[in-house]
Amino acid sequence: MFKLVLVPIDVGQMDAAAKALAMARKLTEKQDSKLILLNVVEELPSYVASQIPINIHTEAVSHARNTLTQMVEDYKLPSGTEVLVSDGHPSTKILEVAQQTHADVIVIASHDPDLADYLLGSVAARVVRHAHCSVVVVRNVTL
Ligand code: ADP
Repeated sequence: MFKLVLVPIDVGQMDAAAKALAMARKLTEKQDSKLILLNVVEELPSYVASQIPINIHTEAVSHARNTLTQMVEDYKLPSGTEVLVSDGHPSTKILEVAQQTHADVIVIASHDPDLADYLLGSVAARVVRHAHCSVVVVRNVTL
């Protein structure tokens, strides 16, 4: 049913990532589906970037790529799973990649559990509102 499943991962929210990946696996069980794990590394404003070591962005990209690659192994994801690390604004880039790759569904976790007062954070809310494909929101709060 879902040929291409996009799973955006915030590498700072491993709990949420685990839940989203478990859901993605369930949705693609016994199907010939492909998964794409995407992390978006936010670009710093130039006035901030000029004050910090030049390699910090490169390090963030490399950390994200290693984390996602390790997840493919740890969660025994299908061998064709693609790892994508991209610069930009998280929700905008997630929507862009979903369109470019013709994703059938985006599986996104809803929130950092510390912020239980909010049902949807800004990234998930924008993705739900603007995506052209289906979106599965995995609750990551204890209400
Ligand atoms: P929060 O406000 O806690 O970030 P959101 O509901 O806005 O919660 O979004 C959380 C989800 O959005 C994450 O679990 C992840 O799926 C996605 N997300 C957030 N930031 C990024 C990022 N930089 N790269 C990829 N996905 C992201």
